[in-house]
Order: sequence, then structure tokens, then C-alpha cells
Amino acid sequence: MATAKKAAEEKAGNTLADKLSRLGISREQDLVLHLPLRYEDRTHLAPLASVQAGRAWQVEGTIVNTEIQYRPRRQLVCLIEDGEAKLVLRFFNFYPSQQKALAAGRRVRAFGDVREGYYGMEMVHPSFHIVAPGTPLPDRLTPVYPTTAGLSQENLRKLVQRALARDPANLAETLPPWTREPRRLWGFERAVRYLHEPPTDAPQSALDERTHAAWTRLKFDELLAQQLSLKMHRRARARRRAPRLPGDATLTRELHSRLPFTLTRAQRRVIAEIQRDLARAEPMQRLLQGDVGSGKTVVAALAALQAIESGCQVAFMAPTEILAEQHYRKLAAWLEGLPVTIAWLSGSLPSKAKKKALAAIESGAAQFAIGTHALFQDEVTLPKLGLAIVDEQHRFGVAQRLALRQKGIGDAHQLMMSATPIPRTLAMSFYADLDVSVIDEMPPGRTPVATRLVSQRRRDEIVERVRKACLAGRQVYWVCPLIEESEKLELQTAVALHEELTAKLTPISVGLLHGRMKPDEKAQAMAGFVQGNVGVLVATTVIEVGVDVPNASMMVIEHAERFGLAQLHQLRGRVGRGSAESECILLFEEPMSEAAKARLKVIYENTDGFEIARQDLLIRGPGEFLGARQSGVPLLRFADLESDVRLIEAARDAADELLRREPAAAGAHLQRWLGGREEFIKV
Ligand code: ADP
Ligand code: MG
Repeated sequence: MATAKKAAEEKAGNTLADKLSRLGISREQDLVLHLPLRYEDRTHLAPLASVQAGRAWQVEGTIVNTEIQYRPRRQLVCLIEDGEAKLVLRFFNFYPSQQKALAAGRRVRAFGDVREGYYGMEMVHPSFHIVAPGTPLPDRLTPVYPTTAGLSQENLRKLVQRALARDPANLAETLPPWTREPRRLWGFERAVRYLHEPPTDAPQSALDERTHAAWTRLKFDELLAQQLSLKMHRRARARRRAPRLPGDATLTRELHSRLPFTLTRAQRRVIAEIQRDLARAEPMQRLLQGDVGSGKTVVAALAALQAIESGCQVAFMAPTEILAEQHYRKLAAWLEGLPVTIAWLSGSLPSKAKKKALAAIESGAAQFAIGTHALFQDEVTLPKLGLAIVDEQHRFGVAQRLALRQKGIGDAHQLMMSATPIPRTLAMSFYADLDVSVIDEMPPGRTPVATRLVSQRRRDEIVERVRKACLAGRQVYWVCPLIEESEKLELQTAVALHEELTAKLTPISVGLLHGRMKPDEKAQAMAGFVQGNVGVLVATTVIEVGVDVPNASMMVIEHAERFGLAQLHQLRGRVGRGSAESECILLFEEPMSEAAKARLKVIYENTDGFEIARQDLLIRGPGEFLGARQSGVPLLRFADLESDVRLIEAARDAADELLRREPAAAGAHLQRWLGGREEFIKV
């Protein structure tokens, strides 16, 4: 019987080990780092007559009667008394074993929230246990841990206590005194013991807000592990060998002379940084950040040409077909007549064209491969790859980024570009293994985009406004509402919107662009807009990334309240690229959630991408910001990027010291914090 049950549990993935692994616990010492969410004060007993609604209490009494009632729904009702007063304990979900335990005449100790019930005070879903009269109360605060279905607080507490008691190695200090003392950090054992079982006089608010010295030590440890992991990763990379690509300026000089504009100072600075990296044998891993429209493409082009001059191949990847194609066209135009063969590769290429492109890449005849993630599929071999450029890298899925790394591109130089500015704290922690170049200046002559918030009720006025703009020779993007739940519905909406605007705006030509169109249809729709034959382009968010049509000076975003901040910022960045006065109209529908209101306020008040990203981080938290939820990679559990900036800096310095002076301690520290897991999240 017992074995059958055990087998069934194993099959259902429901053993204790399964449950613990859902909490990220695979070793006993992981339990030591499984820290409480909050604490309950169970050091006092409240007389039943004294409890009041609205907070948690601990009480004790003799069970008068326990029964199942069916109205209004099935529930277990247990009446207790302590000689002065009575109290009802009420359970809506319960096991037969619980009913059995609560037998009349027994003495029960219960902790839970009290509310005003129909027949007086009652405690709903208390935690409880049967006690002998006079059982001593705990003299410590009781921890409440993050847990998972089927694992009770009680059991988790026991497991943690055992881990704290059993093996002193679980509590061993990993920081040498010279790291700890100048920073006045608590010892590891003292800190974890304190957090698992704080004394009753512990300052509750400092514990809850995690500002207590014991928390500081644990947060420091966690951040240190992250820094160590990234720095070690970086060192490993530095030992690998990439081809030196010093270039001879034959191609880059030519491109410089062809550009219809002069580079900004910021562009020149980042180009110099990249050129220096490429000339070295250590593989470059550089993140190029620049707000939407700051001119990253030309930087990428110059880097690519330096690699090609040096005799290597370059792969240039973009997250969408539209964007990849735009790059292809732009670069082909810039490089016209130069001795550079470009191959274009996308998932939807007809098989004959694809074969040809693949052959050109494989033979090395094509030095420059441009495309979507099709470029890093298995069938593609880039025998002389020297530089891989990834545009809008944050838009690639985690799996794709991993594929890129595993493809052996690890030994080529890598340039990642992103328009999503990463706040400083985030860069310092999660991107510590990358070099970062920032374009912090816009090309001259851009006019700021005027942002307006308009209720959907005034949509007709906006249609009129769009008509006037078109008649004045301007071009307009009209962005369809985002419907995350259903791609089909989104498509229908796009088609309906296109019909509506075509009817309302005749004779102005209205185009349509959405993700489900075939690549050549997309290209056609885009081309019509670029050439100015189309006045209004109805589009889904496929235009969000990178699309560049300078004459478009107006954008309408429908149901702007549904979009995320980064998306809104990216979308808005599609206008204001020429010299004309630009505007972005955010149509919203009420009622809006608080978060939606907060987002629209931020986008209305700010144009600086860094500030928007910072606010985004505040609203959403780093996990979602990094898109890590889908990746399952551990993010920081305890430290907070907003409030723990000084600790991040301290951990960064300590990581350098530790690696230099006591690498063995660094190893032990990593072992404790990462254990079996590979590493903290990386781009
Ligand atoms: P992003 O950084 O968003 O990728 P792009 O590279 O698409 O920006 O550049 C936006 C536009 O600005 C393009 O039309 C590009 O040709 C133009 N551009 C780039 N650098 C400059 C510059 N220094 N002066 C004027 N225009 C520039
Ligand atoms: Mg771009």
C-alpha cells in the first residue's frame, strides 16, 4: 500500500524532492538560503474574549464541538472555548485528517486572521496544532516561508531547522575577514540564524523591509555570487581566441565618404571603442545601447566593414523580416560598387534562393550575411565568421540567444545592439560580463515628438486630423490595438481598421501591414509607404522594431493603455526622424487600470529612453523587465536593484578583490549560491 502510494507520487512528480525542487531547493544547504517572506509573532496567547477583527492573533482553547456544515457551502466549523469566551475556527478547504485531529475535548492552539462573522468573532483558515495544556510558547518569531502546494509551513520549518542543525558546513563562512570587516557585514551563520529565527525583540519593520543587517549580509552574498559568476564567465571568454580584425580602412573610409550626414560625437566614440576591440584577439562582447533613432545601424555597418576588410565574414541578424530586409536594402545601397558580396537569408526565402545564399555563405564568397534568426540555424555554416552583430538583441528569445552562443560564435567577436536602455543598476548587475557602449546623443535636426493623450471617444476628431496631415503631404502610422490573447482577433482588427480608414479617408491611400502577411506582401506594403504612395499605414506592432521612414511624422496608437512602456517608446520612436514637426497620439479607453495610467503618464512626461526604462523597472520589476520569466533563469531573490545600489557596487568591488586574493573562497561562495545551477541570467 505504502509503496503503491509512493510510486504514484513519484509518477505525479509529487515527492518531497519534487516539491523542494519547485522551490529551487536541491541540496540541504539550499534550505539554509530559503529565507522567510515574513514573520508571525506567536510568542503570546490572546484570551478569546480579547480578540478583535482585522488582524492575526494566537489563541488557545478546548474544542467544544467540530462539525461539517453545508451552508452556504461545505465547511468545517470548530468551536473552542477558554473558560471566558468562545471562538469559531472555520475552514473551507480541509482534509479528513484535520477534521479528525480537531476532536472535541482536545486542546488546540491556533494562529490566524480574525473577522467579524455572522455569530461573532471567528478565525478563518488558521494554522493550528493540538497541544497538551501548558505547552510552552516559542520564544522566537515564527518564519513564514515561500512554499508550494502540498508542503506545509510546519514541514518546511522542520526541514530548515534540520539543515541549520545538522551540518556545520551548511553555515560555514565563505567571506574572508578582510572582505567582511571593512564593510561591517555580519557573519554568515549569525545572519542566517537570525533570519530563520529572529528573537522576539527583533525590529519587525527592518525585517519586513529587509533593511536589517542580517538581510544586508544575505543580499550582499547574493549580489557577490552574481558578480563572481559573471566575472568568471568573462575571464573564461578572455582566454578564448578570436581573429584579430584591425582592418585597413579601405572599405570603412569609402563608407565614411558616402554617408549623407556627419557622424555625431557619440557615434564616433562608440565606433572607436568597437574598432579597438576588433583589433584584439580576445573576443569582443559588447552591448551597443542607443535610444531609438540614435543611429546604431551605421555603427554596425562600419564595424562590419572593418571585419570584412580584415578578411572575415560578418553575420548581421535582426529579429523581424521587415527589419532585416530594411538593413539589407540600406546596406546594399551604402555598399554599392564596393567589393563586398552580401547574402540575404530569411526563413521564408524560396528554397532555390535560399540554397544559393547558403552556398555563397558556405564558400565564403559572400562576406556579409544579413537576415533573421534563420542565420543561426544548423544548416548555416559561416566558415570565416569574424563578427556577429545582433540588432535589437532584447527582441530575440532567450532560446535564440543561447543557440547563437552555442553555434561557436563564441569565438567570433560579438556586437549586440539594443534600443531598450538598461538602467545603470541593471547594467551593473546583470550585464557585468559585457562591455557597454552608449550612444547618448541624437543626430542633429530632429524635432521632438509632441505626445498627446486622447480618449477613444474623440476618435473621429483624430481621423480628421490624420486627413489634414495627409493632405499637407505628411505620412501617418496608425497602430492597431494589441490583443495579446488572440493573434487571430488582432488580425481581424487590423483588417477592419484598414477598411474603416480606407472608407473614411478616401481618396487618401491607406496601406496595411501585419505579422501574418507573406514576406513579399510585407515588403510591398513597406515599399509603398517608403516611396510616399501610401499616406496612412495601418500596422500592428511589427513596425515596432527599427523601421525607419523619415517622412512619417504622425502616429496614432489605438488602445495605447494595452501596450507596455518599452513598446510605446519604441513605437513613438518611429516618428520624429525627419525635420518635420511630429506628433504621437495615444488613444486610450477608460476605465484604465492603475498600472496603465501610470504607464501613459510616464510616456507622456518623458522622451528620454533611459528615464522611461527606469520608470518601467519601477513599475514592473527587473524579472519582467529582462524577460526572464520565460527563461526560468534565477534572478535575484533578495537584493533589490532600486534600493540596493550601494550594495551592488560593494559586491562588484568585493568580487574583484576576492578573485584576485582568494579564488578558492570565491569558488566556495559560488558553490553555495549557485550550486548545481549554471549561472545567473546573462544576455
Ligand atoms: P537606430 O539607432 O534606432 O537603429 P537608425 O540607425 O535606424 O537608428 O538611424 C535612424 C536614422 O538616422 C536613419 O535614417 C539614419 O540614416 C539616420 N542617421 C544616423 N546617423 C545620423 C547622423 N549622424 N546624422 C543624421 N542622420 C543620421
Ligand atoms: Mg535600429
